[in-house]
Amino acid sequence: MNPVGKPGKTGALLPVEDALAQLLAMADAAPIREQDALLLAECDGRVLAQDLISTLDLPPWPNSAMDGYAVRLADWTGEPLVVSQRIFAGQAPQPLAAGTCARIFTGAPVPEGADCVEMQENAVVHADERVSFTEPLHLDQNIRPQGQETTVGELVLSAGTRLGPIELGLAASLGHDRLAVIRRPRVAVLSTGDELIEPGLPLGPGQIYNSNRRVLCSWLTRMGCEVIDAGILPDDLEQTRARLGGLGRVDLILSTGGVSVGEADFLGIALREEGELALWKLAIKPGKPLTFGHFRGVPVIGLPGNPASTLVTFALLARPYLLRRQGVQDVEPLRFEVPVGFEWPKPGNRREYLRGRVEQGKAIIYRNQSSGVLRSAAWAEGFVEVLEGTTLAIGDRVNFIPLSEVFS
Ligand code: AMP
Ligand code: MG
Repeated sequence: MNPVGKPGKTGALLPVEDALAQLLAMADAAPIREQDALLLAECDGRVLAQDLISTLDLPPWPNSAMDGYAVRLADWTGEPLVVSQRIFAGQAPQPLAAGTCARIFTGAPVPEGADCVEMQENAVVHADERVSFTEPLHLDQNIRPQGQETTVGELVLSAGTRLGPIELGLAASLGHDRLAVIRRPRVAVLSTGDELIEPGLPLGPGQIYNSNRRVLCSWLTRMGCEVIDAGILPDDLEQTRARLGGLGRVDLILSTGGVSVGEADFLGIALREEGELALWKLAIKPGKPLTFGHFRGVPVIGLPGNPASTLVTFALLARPYLLRRQGVQDVEPLRFEVPVGFEWPKPGNRREYLRGRVEQGKAIIYRNQSSGVLRSAAWAEGFVEVLEGTTLAIGDRVNFIPLSEVFS
């Protein structure tokens, strides 16, 4: 087995889907299995560790979808009916007395014997307090049947589901106060580059502020990861070895920068010495060079350093990898088709992820798509995916990946 996969034909660019398939296969081979049993309030963004099987019918009994009157259809002949009981949500009704109706409110159990609820807007209350109806009545109308949402024994959420407000609400509706979730992935973030300095310090000659660290640490935190912020790593082999070795027990080392085949690729050297390394030239733009390997058994993903490249490669490759390590199956971000409002006359040999927006139903892109320009993504609402080898005329359709998708 080659644990780091095959880098593709020499010189050829590795298609994005092939790189993703290799990363996901490696994630499948190293699943995080430890579980935490957490209160629902602590589960947002985490991954469900065990199937959630319903132990309830939901709703547990037929209940009214309206404020109105519960009736036995056979009893309604056109003659006004006596109201024999009032049933509020939270009450347990008596069986419906023959020849009567019941006043009922939304969410209240439908009394035994009733087979129809008519809304109060279609009811007339007479001076003697009997009630008649202005519209024809139908069997089962306005009754939410027992078990319409789920029944005992049904699989409601599968292990590997990412939990958000809706899934947590569903678990709550079934009476769960805690869920078993996969423990947080521990991710060490390293920013490589002698030119980097942290914000807040004065900028020296040749220096730039470290922005990738902030992007990745905030993003990983949002994803429910435990972030070990390992700071800036200078372009130096000794320090690279020492820093990688000192990270302790982590599930992933995520670095940025120093992955081009430049002379300052010390990450690659360290991996070659103490693990293994795949250097990929991806058919992706921005973000061609990507490193995957292991350092003393710990998986390492080295993203390219240009801020827009870091963003795109994290969104399309590292994020799915991290989700899959937790057992999430559907790791690809949602894409939807939109017509383009710009022209793309020259086909590229890499798949482009242009930072764009949808305005008046058409995708438009930021004026400067340089991989060094993070502002393009601040302006954007998503990535416009332009496949390799394609040209576009106004109105042609492309995939759009909302940033909100990848930032969840
Ligand atoms: P590298 O991948 O190290 O060759 O870096 C590519 C480009 O990204 C260079 O212009 C770097 O200065 C820049 N860069 C690398 N890391 C960062 C970072 N953490 N924050 C901002 N820019 C970076
Ligand atoms: Mg560098």
